[in-house]
Amino acid sequence: MVNEKIRNGEEKLLHIYNRFPVALDHGEGVYLYDTEGKQYLDFAAGIGVNGLGYHNAELNAALKEQLDRLCHISNLYYHENCGVAARMLASASGMDRVFFTNSGAEAVEGALKTARKYAWTKKSGKYEFIAMNHSFHGRTVGAVSVTGHQEYREPFEPLFPGVHFADYNDLDSVKALISEKTCGIILEPLQGEGGIHPATQEFMEGIRKLCDENEILMICDEVQCGMGRTGSMFAWQGYGVRPDIMTMAKAIGNGIPVGAFAMTENVAENSLKPGDHGTTYGGNPLACMAVRTVLEIFEKDQIVEHVNKVAPYLRARLDELAARTDCILECRGKGLMQGLAVTKSFAEVNQRALEEGLLILSAEGGVIRLLPPLIIEEKHVDEMIQKLEKALS
Ligand SMILES: *Cc1c(COP(=O)(O)O)cnc(C)c1O
Repeated sequence: MVNEKIRNGEEKLLHIYNRFPVALDHGEGVYLYDTEGKQYLDFAAGIGVNGLGYHNAELNAALKEQLDRLCHISNLYYHENCGVAARMLASASGMDRVFFTNSGAEAVEGALKTARKYAWTKKSGKYEFIAMNHSFHGRTVGAVSVTGHQEYREPFEPLFPGVHFADYNDLDSVKALISEKTCGIILEPLQGEGGIHPATQEFMEGIRKLCDENEILMICDEVQCGMGRTGSMFAWQGYGVRPDIMTMAKAIGNGIPVGAFAMTENVAENSLKPGDHGTTYGGNPLACMAVRTVLEIFEKDQIVEHVNKVAPYLRARLDELAARTDCILECRGKGLMQGLAVTKSFAEVNQRALEEGLLILSAEGGVIRLLPPLIIEEKHVDEMIQKLEKALS
């Protein structure tokens, strides 16, 4: 599957990823093609990034035009794309103010700084965070500090101080960790890397209530579960529980590296001020053209409505597959973010899936994680089920 010519130079890359033995060349819709022309049905979407799939003509045309006009100017100057993208993203996310970053981890960093600065402004003396076991928030030091995996944190300790870990979907364990020093509670409304675990309605509502009662900011990390993936534009909207600060990235640029953190007006007024935070690249005209155009396409093509049409079909086919397949223990998730707990090793299933021409992901606990482009249709679901069934046999 791997063309050796493509591997040229690989020995000079830091050996940090266990790459699959596939060298990809191009994509079209929900399919990817390797350097030898083999077709793969994509149920990974570049780890939830390519919501609109590949080779979207409208997006590519907008990006090419922007590239010829201006790519980068720094945040010392205003560019219309930045304001338009911010206004659209604020409206889509239900937040009031937006700051563009280059990645999800940077969005998390910004969210943590915002919560700390809010506490500082209020002279509350608060600085601690409560995060969740099995959470994932990215690889920078601040983000690792709130990531609920000992093995990701330990080699880099001492990290950001004052972080305590509660059990996800266990309100009492969160309550037990709240002190007069707690400034923020950070959680994913649906844990992705942690094994595809959706928050319960009760948990989301309970966290909101605890935050309100104790002057704590609620931070939702929507880097993976946002942008239509779970059947609402952002996952919090599916619960009707609005956070104070929210992070986004992955699908907001459909592959152009861009993220964002956003907040309510109250948080904006009482937190980051000029000099507190910044980025050279973040939200440059090209990145914001991506966000702006992606959001336009979401609206015009009714992507969220489409997710709500195709997701129940996917789930029904997965439940049927689970019922007739011994090695599948459970199917769980929301919308087009689904996980299969299986007794087989992911490496083995993935190898077979690649042979069948299917791209899948793993999550904690050997869970098979499915994050297809949001534009998949029922026929792609059928094709995936056929291939996955062979891979699991
Ligand atoms: C992927 C991810 C991140 C990190 O995003 P990067 O762009 O890789 O830095 C943060 N939070 C969640 C929930 C993610 O899934």
